[in-house]
Amino acid sequence: LDAPDDRVCQLGARFSSSLGKATDDMWLSMWSAWELAEFPDLHRALQVPSISAVIVGVHDPLSRGTVRLRTADPDARPIVDFRMLSEPGDLSRIVEGLQFAIELASSPSFAPLYRSIGMLDPSSANDRDVLEGYIKTSVGGWYHASGTCRMGADPEDGAVVDARLQVHGVDGLHVVDASVMPTVPRAPTNLSSIAIGERAAELLR
Ligand SMILES: Cc1cc2nc3c(=O)[nH]c(=O)nc-3n(C[C@H](O)[C@H](O)[C@H](O)COP(=O)(O)OP(=O)(O)OC[C@H]3O[C@@H](n4cnc5c(N)ncnc54)[C@H](O)[C@@H]3O)c2cc1C
Repeated sequence: LDAPDDRVCQLGARFSSSLGKATDDMWLSMWSAWELAEFPDLHRALQVPSISAVIVGVHDPLSRGTVRLRTADPDARPIVDFRMLSEPGDLSRIVEGLQFAIELASSPSFAPLYRSIGMLDPSSANDRDVLEGYIKTSVGGWYHASGTCRMGADPEDGAVVDARLQVHGVDGLHVVDASVMPTVPRAPTNLSSIAIGERAAELLR
C-alpha cells in the first residue's frame, strides 16, 4: 500500500459461515494502512514499509477457555487459558473465513489498492493444510473475553451469578463486568458491559 496518511479506518462486518449453528457467527475486519516502522518483526518478514489487513474471526466460538486462581493471594495474576481452536469446528470456520478474505482481497475492486498480498500466498486458498498451518501459527484473541463468571440459574451447570448478579451461595458478593455474560456475544462487548454496569447500579441501589 502507499504510505499511510492520517486517515485511519476500521471496518467491521458480521457474516454467517456455512458451518456455524448461529447466524452472523463470523467477523471480518479491514484496516486501512499503517506503517511498520514500529513493528520490526513484521517489517523484517514482509519487507514493505506499510500494510493493511483483512482479519477474520469466529464470533460464536465452540472452544471454551478457563480462568483459574494461581494462589490464594488476591493480587496474584490468574492463570488464563483461552484454549483457542480446541474445538475443530472453530478451525474449520476460520479456514472458510480465510478463503472468503482471500477472495475479497483478490477481487478486482481491491487489487488496485495494494502491491502484493503478504503473510499468506493467495494461491494457497484451496490448500487446507497450508491454511490450517497458517491459522494455527497466527491465531489470536480479539480483546472481547466474556462469560468467565456466567449468569444462570443453576450453579451445578457452571453458572456463577444469578439474574441479580449475586454470586450463587455467597451473600453480598456481586460480579459486574463482561464476565457475567451468559453466552459469548456475536458482537464487540463494550456497550453490553456498560449496560451491565448500569443495570447493576439499578439493582444495587
Ligand atoms: C485493546 C482492546 C480493544 C477493545 N476494543 C473494543 C471495541 O472497539 N469495541 C468494543 O465493543 N469492545 C472493545 N474492547 C472490549 C471492551 O473494552 C471490554 O469488553 C470491556 O471493557 C469489558 O468491561 P469490563 O468492565 O468487564 O472490564 P474492564 O473494562 O477491563 O474494567 C475492569 C476495571 O477493573 C479495574 N481493576 C482491575 N483490578 C482491580 C483491582 N484489584 N482493584 C480495583 N480495580 C481493579 C481495572 O483498572 C478496570 O478499570 C476492547 C478491549 C481491549 C483490551
